Amino acid sequence: MTPLNFDFHCHSLASDGLLPPEELAQRAAANGVDLWALTDHDTLGGLAAGEQAASAAGMAFVNGVEISIEWQGRPIHIIGLGFDRQHPDLADGLETLRVGRVERAKRMGEALAAIGIPGVYEGALQFATNPDLISRAHFARYMVSIGIAREVSGVFPQYLTPGKPGYVEHRWPTLANAVGWIVAAGGVAVVAHPGRYRMGGGDMRKFLGDFKDLGGQGLEVTCGSHSPDHVLHFARLARYFTFHASRGSDFHGPEESYVDLGKLPQLPVDLKPVWRLIL
Ligand code: AMP
Ligand code: MN
Ligand code: MN
Ligand code: MN
Repeated sequence: MTPLNFDFHCHSLASDGLLPPEELAQRAAANGVDLWALTDHDTLGGLAAGEQAASAAGMAFVNGVEISIEWQGRPIHIIGLGFDRQHPDLADGLETLRVGRVERAKRMGEALAAIGIPGVYEGALQFATNPDLISRAHFARYMVSIGIAREVSGVFPQYLTPGKPGYVEHRWPTLANAVGWIVAAGGVAVVAHPGRYRMGGGDMRKFLGDFKDLGGQGLEVTCGSHSPDHVLHFARLARYFTFHASRGSDFHGPEESYVDLGKLPQLPVDLKPVWRLIL
């Protein structure tokens, strides 16, 4: 039997993606996705439109979100899937998180002004379709528009990553916060793109153990930013911790993503796909 083509990771204009939820749904369906989740950063604002458009395209839909947290001082992303989007614990937690993002963005603007690039916070806001959710991606797009670099991917390593002038320290929610909100709302918590965190093996096992102890159930094994070696490595960790495996393109838009919706390898066949916990 052919495995389902599920894609449980992507972003719309509600956060830092480049397409509205409706266009993402149509694109996913056209690419052969059977089961789709919209996982905007720290907001549920695109889900109603995503669900409607998925239904119109004849594709099954799952509520999703990608929550920014820190664990032992490291920024990490936790995906929530299949939750009740009205649940107050999750909605209120994300609301507080977004207020923190605005405050962080203002400090980023001040830090860039201090090196002679003024007005970047205000400029970035113009790239944020949803003014309630501002991310470094909006900063990068604005900085490209004023000629600081040719591409978004050129802005990050020079200005927006740790140690660079536009990067500011920020307190994100904890792992316990994010997993707690997701579980309270009846959802499944999944570690996003584990290959992106520069963690040694010991730290990764400690992190995944903490995540599991808190009620986390899933690990993104196949995703847009994983090499074939990452897939093998995190498949082993999923087996070891008995996590269900997720698969997600992390699509942001046609110009900014290497992998299109649904266009990524299938999971290693012995892993339990995370959709089994949701459908
Ligand atoms: P934030 O959540 O505000 O810290 O912004 C992180 C977002 O910036 C990610 O979700 C990506 O969309 C984008 N991003 C991070 N690093 C890079 C990079 N090296 N190149 C392009 N986009 C990036
Ligand atoms: Mn993003
Ligand atoms: Mn992420
Ligand atoms: Mn993402």
